[in-house]
Amino acid sequence: MTYKGSCHCGKICFHVEGEIRELVDCSCSHCRKKGYLLWFVPRESVTLNSRKNDLGSYTFDQHVIQHHFCPTCGCAPFGFGYDGEGDAVAVLNARCLDDVDVSAYPVAHRNDITA
Ligand SMILES: [Zn+2]
Repeated sequence: MTYKGSCHCGKICFHVEGEIRELVDCSCSHCRKKGYLLWFVPRESVTLNSRKNDLGSYTFDQHVIQHHFCPTCGCAPFGFGYDGEGDAVAVLNARCLDDVDVSAYPVAHRNDITA
């Protein structure tokens, strides 16, 4: 399955290959304020179709995840980081994916994700 996603103004756009099985509601200080519902995929599953230079970036705490956002419209469609095994992962904000009904998936509530 290929999903397309973007920020609100369209300056950031991407597509991602994979199958959504569950979404994660992360209760860290950052995710809860932004209201993300996260979908974790291997980094190579995501293809950026817009310019990398257009990505704003934010890090905090352990600085493991680059939280990317659009400097124009403020939407934050994904972050890039590493999992516990050191593998590159992408953390997508499912709310920025086109034609995805987030209410159709189970939601895991987590408070143990290293940012
Ligand atoms: Zn934008």
